[in-house]
Amino acid sequence: MPIRTLSSALVNQIAAGEVIERPASVAKELVENAIDAGATRIVVRIEGGGRERLEVIDDGDGIPHDELSLALAPHSTSKLTTSEDLNRIRTLGFRGEALCAISSVSHVKLASATRGNGQSWTIESRFGEVSEAKPSSGPPGTSIVVAGLFSNVPARRKFLRGDPAEAARVTEVVCNAALSHPSVAFRLESGGRKVLDFATANDCFGRVSDVFGDALGQNPLTVAGEAIGEEFASRVLGIVCRPASMRSVSRTQRIFVNGRPIVDRSLVHAVREAYRGLAEPSLQPVFAIFLTVDPSLVDVNVHPQKSEVRWSNPSWMHRLVYRSVQDALRSEDLTVGDSRLISHALSDSNGIDPRTAPSSASVSTRSAVDRASPSHSFSHSRVVMEEDQGHLLAPPVAVRQVLQVNDTWLILAEDDAVVIVDQHALHERVMFEEIRSRIGGGDLMSQRLMIPATADVSPESLANLETLGPLFARLGIEVTAVGPRTIAVHAFPGFLIGRKVDAATFVVRALCDESLASAATSSDDSTLREQALADILDMMACKAAVKGGDRLSREEIAELLSARSTTDRSSNCPHGRPTSIRIPIIEIERRFGRR
Ligand code: ADP
Ligand code: MG
Repeated sequence: MPIRTLSSALVNQIAAGEVIERPASVAKELVENAIDAGATRIVVRIEGGGRERLEVIDDGDGIPHDELSLALAPHSTSKLTTSEDLNRIRTLGFRGEALCAISSVSHVKLASATRGNGQSWTIESRFGEVSEAKPSSGPPGTSIVVAGLFSNVPARRKFLRGDPAEAARVTEVVCNAALSHPSVAFRLESGGRKVLDFATANDCFGRVSDVFGDALGQNPLTVAGEAIGEEFASRVLGIVCRPASMRSVSRTQRIFVNGRPIVDRSLVHAVREAYRGLAEPSLQPVFAIFLTVDPSLVDVNVHPQKSEVRWSNPSWMHRLVYRSVQDALRSEDLTVGDSRLISHALSDSNGIDPRTAPSSASVSTRSAVDRASPSHSFSHSRVVMEEDQGHLLAPPVAVRQVLQVNDTWLILAEDDAVVIVDQHALHERVMFEEIRSRIGGGDLMSQRLMIPATADVSPESLANLETLGPLFARLGIEVTAVGPRTIAVHAFPGFLIGRKVDAATFVVRALCDESLASAATSSDDSTLREQALADILDMMACKAAVKGGDRLSREEIAELLSARSTTDRSSNCPHGRPTSIRIPIIEIERRFGRR
């Protein structure tokens, strides 16, 4: 077959394949156009999951009648003129290809009236063949009906799923648009029935509770962080669930950048990392995170559907999100059962409860919406992008009414509850935070061993020394290979020696840990390396901590419980298991049949 230049209709149809995959992609493009046009109310109606008919009506600026056919033409947009504009995109659309793509694979009826002039005009297109504009009647704004999607591309049409599945995707598109544009009212109807109806909301927090409903669980936490870079400030707002409301599925996780929903594995990872140690690792948080950044920091033009973006500084964004969510989680007491724990038992001789000291977190019973009101939403969690400062351990306080059971559990009496503490889990968390803050403060005080501690290890495990060596060094551990299957530890953190942790045994265990080795091997992925570091920290904390079965003195118990109130995330051990369980007296009364 000789080489031929394709007809423009065919070119458009091929190009359409990239932008328009299914009814939900049509809905996304049309809703985004309505938002860009300044609509305050957007109605979406679908029939047959959107493939038979999909209509979007808005009350935005409208399209001047002499530009109507241009709106359907290829590469035509009112949102971009120069290539510099690409660096400062503030609209959702800019590629000027959606309407052209949609009209090349369906029947389109486009009616629009600008606000000033009032007269409505309509044009129609059948697979890209555009008719003359005709006067019509209709309110200011734009309405588009897309019928018979892909009826000229049977292969595409076949690839679509059933109506309910396609309708569900359209619903998700409308929910995403609604989440990121709370000041716009949205309505979705499918087969003549109402699916969604969101009135205008004051802010993203109000809209998130409309859209997510119960998925966020009780008393979700607000996130507010800000980072000032060399040139620009970036801001994070969001809502995250409490660890107790995490789920086994990851569906309710949303990230938006400048009003655009994005798919970004690294930022999802950042949110999940913030929950590390607060719940079982397999559980997923529910969250909506809204980022506001200078448009020059993010390239949205890497994906035809604009669902993926490229950051000019990905690790900086990762840190900002991680820190902001972590800060929100740390500012709350997350103890299983109830917020008030061991306060009575911990009251010191002056009757001062360390937990009510001004610096300690208090639990809010306000709803997410309440908490979002400007008076108190952002004050507590300005994230400062600096390394963590070490924290002070409170001096031991006198402990009353504490019982050590089986040399493993500490039972504390409160006025209205009994609290059971897992001594190992709690101490592990205390050690973890202490070692972490020492690393932050460069205060691990590595000690040289007079006689290097040697141990045997398999050659395979010894090979991991190459990748783990630098991580060990950061933690004050100096190790060398002194034979094909022997290591020697020359320096070890004094802190751990003090806790009677055996240097050689510790290093061998780390070298034999496969998941640790594989995380550390991904040496070009800094987040994985940080994870490996955290894993070694976990191991250190575990080794340094008192064990279940260790008899503790009164002083040790007092010190442990007092550290509990001054330690971050003390409600859970570094692996996410609870350190304490609170049983309210009411519950005990109920069990005894007194209530
Ligand atoms: P883009 O959104 O990338 O500019 P589109 O093909 O989606 O490209 O739309 C082309 C143009 O049509 C837009 O730039 C805008 O000027 C106009 N337009 C489309 N939809 C609407 C609408 N709902 N209200 C007002 N103008 C619209
Ligand atoms: Mg568009």
